Amino acid sequence: MGAVTDTLDLVGLRLSAGEGRRLELQTRVSGFSLGGESYVAEPEVVPVLLDISRMLGNGYALSLRFAASLAGPCVRCLKDAALQVEVQAREVDRPGGGEELSSPYVQDETLDLAAWAHDAFVLALPTQVLCRADCAGLCSVCAIDLNEAGPDHTHERAPDPRWAKLSELKLD
Ligand SMILES: [Zn+2]
Ligand SMILES: [Zn+2]
Repeated sequence: MGAVTDTLDLVGLRLSAGEGRRLELQTRVSGFSLGGESYVAEPEVVPVLLDISRMLGNGYALSLRFAASLAGPCVRCLKDAALQVEVQAREVDRPGGGEELSSPYVQDETLDLAAWAHDAFVLALPTQVLCRADCAGLCSVCAIDLNEAGPDHTHERAPDPRWAKLSELKLD
């Protein structure tokens, strides 16, 4: 495994205006929590493809691509879910270009690659992390895993309290 790049000095690339470069790097995607559960990217050190263009005028246009898998609990059944995540992200940083053209990951022409990869990974996740799309989850009554218990798993419905009251009435 080669060197891990957490931050990248964009000036050091010595790009002239209008020039671009593609770099194959490795960066660390740190773990995070979602809805109180802990998740990690696997591998934690992930190979990324980074395209950097020095814009005419000034500043940089950046594009990041990588694939990693997410490991952590399924939100329905809490078993391990392993999800393949494709990440594609773009940033533009043009000094003096206003907030919209200022990337939070570029400071003093240094790119915080690890922070960007981490945020882009989280943003690329589906709204619900599931072990599989049709995960049946846990039974709301007894918490058994319905994927294993099968579709026939049911409980006697609790008696309706109104009927209980009726049965207390003496009818004779
Ligand atoms: Zn599940
Ligand atoms: Zn049950």
